[in-house]
Amino acid sequence: MSENKYDLCIVGGGPAGMTLAAFAARMGLSCVVIDARSSAHSEFRGESIAPDAVWVLRYLGILDKIAPSETLDIVGLRLSDGGKQVLGIDFAEFPYPEANPAEIPQQLLLSALETLVTEKSNCLVYRNTRAVQLLRSQDGTVTGVFASDQDRNKEKFYARLTIGADGRYSTMRKLSGIQSQELALERDFLWFKMTYPEAWKAGPLFYRVNLKGNQQAVAIPTVPNLVRVGINIPKGSLKSMRSNDITVLHDVVGNLIPELLPTVREEIRSWSDTRVLDIFTTYVKKWYMPGMILIGDAAHTLSPVLGQGISHAICDAALLAFLIKDNIDQSSEEVQQVLSDFQKERELSIERARKLQLRQESLFKAKGLFPTLGRRLLYRGMNMSTAAKRKIWGNLYYAEQRNGLIKHYIETECYPVPAEPPLFAEE
Ligand SMILES: Cc1cc2nc3c(=O)[nH]c(=O)nc-3n(C[C@H](O)[C@H](O)[C@H](O)COP(=O)(O)OP(=O)(O)OC[C@H]3O[C@@H](n4cnc5c(N)ncnc54)[C@H](O)[C@@H]3O)c2cc1C
Repeated sequence: MSENKYDLCIVGGGPAGMTLAAFAARMGLSCVVIDARSSAHSEFRGESIAPDAVWVLRYLGILDKIAPSETLDIVGLRLSDGGKQVLGIDFAEFPYPEANPAEIPQQLLLSALETLVTEKSNCLVYRNTRAVQLLRSQDGTVTGVFASDQDRNKEKFYARLTIGADGRYSTMRKLSGIQSQELALERDFLWFKMTYPEAWKAGPLFYRVNLKGNQQAVAIPTVPNLVRVGINIPKGSLKSMRSNDITVLHDVVGNLIPELLPTVREEIRSWSDTRVLDIFTTYVKKWYMPGMILIGDAAHTLSPVLGQGISHAICDAALLAFLIKDNIDQSSEEVQQVLSDFQKERELSIERARKLQLRQESLFKAKGLFPTLGRRLLYRGMNMSTAAKRKIWGNLYYAEQRNGLIKHYIETECYPVPAEPPLFAEE
């Protein structure tokens, strides 16, 4: 039984937990990451990463650990409604150091982060290990977790601060009694991957809405030479949809993205080639309690629209690391104040993203002649106004690079980063 005490005990080795551990490793904090999965491998998880998070990853040196050919910059976005393009965004127009969102397969991202964590002797990663109970002192302060591995061996991990980074169905949230509220959105998402059409080479991502406004799809170019397609389906309709032949899905694709129909017929032959994402958003009023905090999806599950989930998970991790670095040894009250400041700062960006996603949801579900005409007019209006584009995308994609607290810490070089990070080829 381990009686080690770490600075940080991070439950969950997804984008939030592993990024926090990578920062901690670089900053000289000791940490342990406990993850229920046996490896970072998982094909169908978020891969679209918004520019602010790409910027944080570049600062951390993570992008030097992934071959450039294994990631893809997304150059723009085209939204068509009823067969006509109503909105076009070219990310190069935005004046920020990291203007483009990127597609980075999650297992590559997590493996690169894990390498950075484990090359430092101050940090450890335990896989196949699940947090099952909180350890608490007599006054109720969380002092770590009790975890169990696949052979049911139990171990105690003590820490100055325990972090619940265990995702949308967070066990840590439940164990701690931190209250949350779930808002189910009216649609789910059906995802699949297929070969990228040659004609789309290095192109933007596409959103398509049909004339009636009752079917929507997103097609995101990804690596290697693939396109990730998401189709919106009514909430809970998966079972009835799957009771039909897969040609039902081919018909929807043919209607929305006819260019993909021949390949989708060839490559998506059964429902097992698809995955469903249950879309909901979770509100947590207070993310922290004495000795513990939630970050990433555990604190604020978002919809996957516009690559917000991973990005906020990564930005949470960066800011928490910066704020906690010099305060980890302070009194419990002082640490609580730091956690409160952290939540206040991150909540601003998260609420902006959530509101935009919810507005987008209600625009997409608009039915009938006038609401759909209104939606098209709105997008066309936005398309013609550079100021509107700058405002909306500035809030969604570039808030941290523009004037966020993370920018302040990065600019004041809170910890030394190699001036010239090694090139990937030399690693
Ligand atoms: C199919 C799909 C597609 C998506 N597409 C996108 C996208 O394109 N862009 C985007 O931004 N977001 C997308 N998302 C959402 C995105 O994946 C999440 O927002 C993001 O991964 C959140 O990161 P996280 O680290 O907070 O949580 P997670 O990535 O969920 O990581 C949580 C980790 O905690 C571990 N864990 C859970 N319970 C325990 C426990 N008791 N003990 C130990 N470990 C535990 C899990 O094994 C997991 O590794 C998608 C999600 C899915 C499912």
